Amino acid sequence: QEPLLRINHLKTYYPIRKGLFSRTVNNVKAVDDISLDIYEGETLGLVGESGCGKSTIGRTILKLEKPTSGEIWFKGENITSYSNMQMLPIRTEMQMIFQDPFSSLNPWMRVKDILKEPIITHRIVKGPLEAEKEVDRLLDIVGIPSSYKFKYPHEFSGGQRQRIGIARALSLNPKLIICDEPVSALDVSVQAQILNLLKQLQKDLGLTYLFIAHGLGAVKYISTRIAVMYLGKVVEIGSKEQLFNNPKHPYTKGLLNAYPVPNPKMRNKKQKIIQGDIPSPANPPSGCRFHTRCPLAQEKCRQTEPILDGQSHSVACHFPLS
Ligand code: SF4
Ligand code: MG
Repeated sequence: QEPLLRINHLKTYYPIRKGLFSRTVNNVKAVDDISLDIYEGETLGLVGESGCGKSTIGRTILKLEKPTSGEIWFKGENITSYSNMQMLPIRTEMQMIFQDPFSSLNPWMRVKDILKEPIITHRIVKGPLEAEKEVDRLLDIVGIPSSYKFKYPHEFSGGQRQRIGIARALSLNPKLIICDEPVSALDVSVQAQILNLLKQLQKDLGLTYLFIAHGLGAVKYISTRIAVMYLGKVVEIGSKEQLFNNPKHPYTKGLLNAYPVPNPKMRNKKQKIIQGDIPSPANPPSGCRFHTRCPLAQEKCRQTEPILDGQSHSVACHFPLS
């Protein structure tokens, strides 16, 4: 089966000056040689601590960031060097949902106009009457009464705003939606509702998701496969079951232990599983980038970079857990 989206040895670097008056330029290696396939109808969870480059992957796929090297393929087409013009039809098929829907919704526009804008720009409907009908339909499928369409974003709760963000993403009939931490700013009770909505929409509309999160909670609920990122690299990828039942990378294991168990009796007091701070992606550690924090690190880990290896369940570690 051909993947809907393939990224191949993707690198996205940002140049930064070493000091205020320095001429030497250093690179922040936000995405550093990542290859991933996303298949139609699946949800690939992409997990890692903040600053590991997961949002940059999403933005690079949408060509909101320019990749430094590597390739992006969508529906069998290499779109890496597409111009803005060439990207137009593809932009309708790939949409993004953001962590904070409030900052992505224009506060001066009524909801109906927010939703109409992309529909009209991309000529999805024929006339104003049809556009109005389409707004009602979109609000209906995300569970917002259509009578609310005259309201402004600030008149809605966080969860409702995220529903509107989802409606806007759906307005162009996308195939792939990049969900960038869509529930992490919401109350826990609301999180489940939004995740359920995303799952239902996926089933009804045949959507494919790249679901970005910093923890494993939401990802466990929604993903079919999970990729774990650390400092610009994928360190482990496999099915949800493989990652939860048999994590092979010490970092994944650490994230799993940090994942709150619903039953408080089963929770080990207050444990800091992954010790130390995340090193700077401008100056990543030698060898295995996780070696400064890994409880299993040995000399080899400081010297040699492990490569991602394996078939359906891959891990980048010299001493994987079994
Ligand atoms: Fe830890 Fe070494 Fe494996 Fe890196 S390669 S995760 S440092 S054991
Ligand atoms: Mg982010």
